Amino acid sequence: MKHIDEKKSDYSFICDECSYDVPDFEFRLSAVQYGIIFLHGPNDVFMGILCPKCQKMSLNRYDTEYIKGLKSRLFYSTQSDALFKYHSFPYTHDYHESLLDNLFTSKIAIGFDIGCIEESEIFARDDDSKTHFSNKYCSYSWGDEAIGPMLNVCWADEDKIESLVKIENETGLKVFPRYIGYVPTYLLINIFCEDYNYFDKELIANNLSESFQVLEEYPTQREISRDSDFLNILINSMQDKNVIKKISTKENKIVIDEMKEKFITFYKKGYLKHFLEKSYLEFLHEYIGINQQINFSYQVVNDLLSKYLKILINLVKEKETERPMQKIREECRKIAKRLWKKYPKMTIQDMIFRDEIAHACGQKLYTEDTIRNWIKDLCPNRLPGRRPQK
Ligand SMILES: [Zn+2]
Repeated sequence: MKHIDEKKSDYSFICDECSYDVPDFEFRLSAVQYGIIFLHGPNDVFMGILCPKCQKMSLNRYDTEYIKGLKSRLFYSTQSDALFKYHSFPYTHDYHESLLDNLFTSKIAIGFDIGCIEESEIFARDDDSKTHFSNKYCSYSWGDEAIGPMLNVCWADEDKIESLVKIENETGLKVFPRYIGYVPTYLLINIFCEDYNYFDKELIANNLSESFQVLEEYPTQREISRDSDFLNILINSMQDKNVIKKISTKENKIVIDEMKEKFITFYKKGYLKHFLEKSYLEFLHEYIGINQQINFSYQVVNDLLSKYLKILINLVKEKETERPMQKIREECRKIAKRLWKKYPKMTIQDMIFRDEIAHACGQKLYTEDTIRNWIKDLCPNRLPGRRPQK
């Protein structure tokens, strides 16, 4: 790992993997897009970004004072288009079995918002563990703003850091939490995951807490609020200009506005309930999966949200414009009656293939036999082609 001790530019960084001397604007771009790792040690700090050239995670070592200056330039500068916050979702490393011996972690609740913790909240003043951790490198700097509702702090010994970064590059999965450009959507989805306890389902089932027992008694209410929260996440993403670019036509906006206003009406029809119930876990699964990747970025979250929103919009459009077969049948009979009045010699076969009938069926495909059954009793000439010739 390179030790950067002189300030060549605002953000001096050299990739360990490909030796690329990353220019300032590319550093900022990568930081905003994929986040930054800071590992705060007793006397210095490791900082890492995803190399814009080789797409590998690599760390450089800096003096603590240098990082302080860099953080203030990057985090609090008025030119900064992103507000960096600590993001440790999904708060676990259970996808890395081999880490347990080299990484120490602690998961702390910080509330359903942006929050922070101080060192004193973890260690008491004369705590032995404080001394134990004091010479390790920590992924979080006490007091930094973090995206709720939980915060996972990781510690590693100096001589283990290199191998831990190697694991990231080999597996493509994060070991260290990042500081990322904050978008409210993250908080919204993280809270959703926590509320509907995707992670701790078994844990809760085992320790049936009082509050959970109450929820158990009203599963329907909980389901409705879960489904409505999930719908809100999808609808909220429509405010994002990137999602809008992809799917927001005027027509789609009307569909969404209507669904937002009359959630229960749509929900009662069943198909919306079915869609939300069926997809929320799948969505969480995918969201958690992309959060574990070293190339996690807002773009990927956006694509995920757009995907579900698109399915939802199409579903609503299809269901709300779908005419029941009964209605189509009635329409076909009306047309047949009118045409046979005008052309009494027309055969049933010819009637089935009239443009007017096809138009009445719309997008729906019905078999010849179905349409025949609908209209055959109306035909004035019941024996087409076999009329007795006199
Ligand atoms: Zn590189």
